[in-house]
Amino acid sequence: MSLSKERQQEIDDVIKTKLILIDKSYPENNILEIVKEFGIKVYVTCFSEIDGMTGVCGVINNETAEIYLNKEHSKVRNTFTLAHELGHFFLHKDPSLKFRVDKCLENNSEEIEANYFAASFLVPKEKLLLILRETKNIPAIAQYFAVSEDVIKIIVKHLIFCDNYYIYSHS
Ligand SMILES: [Zn+2]
Repeated sequence: MSLSKERQQEIDDVIKTKLILIDKSYPENNILEIVKEFGIKVYVTCFSEIDGMTGVCGVINNETAEIYLNKEHSKVRNTFTLAHELGHFFLHKDPSLKFRVDKCLENNSEEIEANYFAASFLVPKEKLLLILRETKNIPAIAQYFAVSEDVIKIIVKHLIFCDNYYIYSHS
């Protein structure tokens, strides 16, 4: 299952619009500063100590706008989870759903959208394309955007195979 080009564009537009509203950008501002501007509080929790919460990456409380991250996960992984939960916050507001508990390996359409949101938020395509003209050093690029090297590799592959026109028309 994958996202249509149209839906990807809609999600990219949501990200741009929300960032314009708070006059911030990523990675020039770190994600915690950005999330705070949206009025969202972030906590880290030991999920493994709570019954039934093993294998949970993140939780979002839609009513109180609070996001909980897994204390046992790396910083890079939590950065991605935070961006993913932010995606649910903006894309999947469901008044009947107070809490969303995110297991790490779910793969329904909302999860795919939230993952796309996170990748697009953390690695803005225009910035990545500019950087790729200067360097192909994946570890350095990953560090710049505070994501894993795998995230950069997936996005680069996507850009090269799906957006040839985009790359060449802008260089
Ligand atoms: Zn999710």
